[in-house]
Amino acid sequence: MDPKDALGPETLQRLLEKQALLWLSPTHDPTDDGRDLPYDPSAAHARFERCAGLLARLFPELEAAGGRLSSPLSPIPRLQQRLSSVGEPGAGSEGAWFLKRDDILPVAGSVKARGGFHETLCLAERLTLEAGLLNADADRARLAEPSVRQYLGRHTLSVGSTGNLGLAIGLIGAGLGFHAAVHMSSDAKAWKKDRLRNCGITVIEHAGDYAAAVASGRAAALDDPLTHFVDDERSEALFLGYAAAARELLDQLQAARRPVDAAHPLFVYLPCGVGGAPGGIAYGLKRLLGPHVHCFFAEPAASPCMLVQLAADTRTPVSVHDIGLDNQTEADGLAVGLASPLVAPLMSRLLAGVFTVDDATLFRDALTLEQAEGISIEPSAAAGLRGPRWLLGSPRGRRYQQRHDLTPVIGGATHVIWSTGGALVPEDMRAQFRARGAH
Ligand SMILES: *Cc1c(COP(=O)(O)O)cnc(C)c1O
Repeated sequence: MDPKDALGPETLQRLLEKQALLWLSPTHDPTDDGRDLPYDPSAAHARFERCAGLLARLFPELEAAGGRLSSPLSPIPRLQQRLSSVGEPGAGSEGAWFLKRDDILPVAGSVKARGGFHETLCLAERLTLEAGLLNADADRARLAEPSVRQYLGRHTLSVGSTGNLGLAIGLIGAGLGFHAAVHMSSDAKAWKKDRLRNCGITVIEHAGDYAAAVASGRAAALDDPLTHFVDDERSEALFLGYAAAARELLDQLQAARRPVDAAHPLFVYLPCGVGGAPGGIAYGLKRLLGPHVHCFFAEPAASPCMLVQLAADTRTPVSVHDIGLDNQTEADGLAVGLASPLVAPLMSRLLAGVFTVDDATLFRDALTLEQAEGISIEPSAAAGLRGPRWLLGSPRGRRYQQRHDLTPVIGGATHVIWSTGGALVPEDMRAQFRARGAH
């Protein structure tokens, strides 16, 4: 079917006018827990566990946590109050809102640390096992020894990125001893390129958008057996690294005394670019919580690639350009025109819906969060902040509640807004973000 027909005239028009909207997925099955699918997050868990000692040794920022990668789950009562709908139907049934602080994940300062650490560790283990430098059951701390690092340094870890994945792979790869090369689109932010170059990481710039940078990086790696390309559009290792975050969130909800069950649904709002990070996290959560967790993606109004792919309900790739959108947004982590072909088919079963956000709202909400809670994040990371509002205060959100018998229990719900990046943003950029948010 033509993707435009699949969207229906009303949704299509709103999308083309770049008006924010909530779209509910018609292929979503809330009882589906994805456990029949062949990707097992427990393997990623085990890898993170056995490599914790190594990471504590290589990355000073991870030392205090014993090499375990995690981010805080913070209650945000003042932001909740400011974004709540006093007087609207739904007021008084707001539940409890939390911010998952992947914006301060160590080393990479974004959600990309999860996928990036996992894929880089996979590669380091595989190469050293194959070379006979590591035994399968040996202590992974051996990978920090100079002779092993020298061996890894003969290999290049390469990636195509609009910024944050490049930062993550570059910084993590270099930490493990790899040579790192980052292919970036010309529209990637200058400070991200500078930061990488200052760490001795090779930056290759390409005309065109994110997809073009990925394609160039992939092609360059094909010609070189010592280059491993981290493929943001297809990598299972990245996906599983993200999926491992689900257990961490569950432990934190338990510690915060927020049960998740039929009487206490969990809603999670995740900013989506190509779909790997939010898709992996949603997948991990569905496997653990089944029908009690409801995942929504947040996409820029100019780049709703997962929305158009899922709405078209086809394996054929459908890009935002195909429906007449331009993929022009300041939300650089989310400026992706084509969804991951690995993740989109999984999300057609597991994802409840997508809401879109215009750029002005991203800057405004990021500023509101800073004023209310003293938390400073990058604009892309603010995309999820409108999530509870859509679910609790819009006609489509209420329709979703009714359809899944959630209305009676909505007051007992927990809403987790995934904040995805910001810690590495330089102060002068933050000042620019604030100025735009104050307009
Ligand atoms: C990469 C990124 C995302 C989305 O991740 P995808 O895997 O591209 O969907 C969200 N927010 C920020 C800040 C990011 O860097």
